[in-house]
Amino acid sequence: KEIPVITIDGPSGSGKGTLAQQLAQHLGWHYLDSGAIYRVLALAASKHGITPNDPKRLKTLAQHLDVRFVSAPEGASARVFLEGLDVSDAIRSEDCGNAASKIAALPEVREALLRRQRAFRKAPGLVTDGRDMGTVVFPEATLKIFLTASPQERARRRYNQLKEKGVDANLNCLEKEIAERDVRDCERNAAPLKPADDAIMLDSTKLAIRDVFQQVLLWLPNKL
Ligand code: C5P
Repeated sequence: KEIPVITIDGPSGSGKGTLAQQLAQHLGWHYLDSGAIYRVLALAASKHGITPNDPKRLKTLAQHLDVRFVSAPEGASARVFLEGLDVSDAIRSEDCGNAASKIAALPEVREALLRRQRAFRKAPGLVTDGRDMGTVVFPEATLKIFLTASPQERARRRYNQLKEKGVDANLNCLEKEIAERDVRDCERNAAPLKPADDAIMLDSTKLAIRDVFQQVLLWLPNKL
């Protein structure tokens, strides 16, 4: 029997990461944060002085990237390691997200990361979030969700997150950065951010996290 996969795609700040982790925990399945892989690659590139204008070296870096995820106790997010170093916090910066979105536009890089992402599909099942999980990486997924929210709401969520962490932030700047990243992720030729034809659309602008979760539970197929 095929190992089931649930994909959750959407723009940054839509809440897809939170939803995917909650679902994985609820089902007792594995979880893949595909964005974290692009972020770790961006960090590795900057460490090695490789710019987004160098697809050849980025491809090699992607092929040999030493990234590991270590799951954390209930409720906490997984730790992410690059070459044995804990980079979980470092990869969450806006700079790293923007750098990730630049190198993620390169087809060579995406191709090099395909197999690595598919390897996360292990029994009893996988919940994964990203931009192209339902369209490219797992086109045969059991359930596909495309989670959106207005750019203003996504910027507000990001602002609150940063404030909670004690990081200085400017709401207008965040809105601008989110809009720029949306354009880059949606308009690129390689695996642009778009819903799969068979994805269920869910707008979380006016929903609390638990409402999103409850809604998705209703969409779970009876037999998984
Ligand atoms: O989801 P997150 O904000 O961590 O992703 C960082 C960047 O990595 C995104 O802006 C996007 O450009 C890229 N990405 C991607 N495909 C994925 C996941 C992330 O292109 N499946």
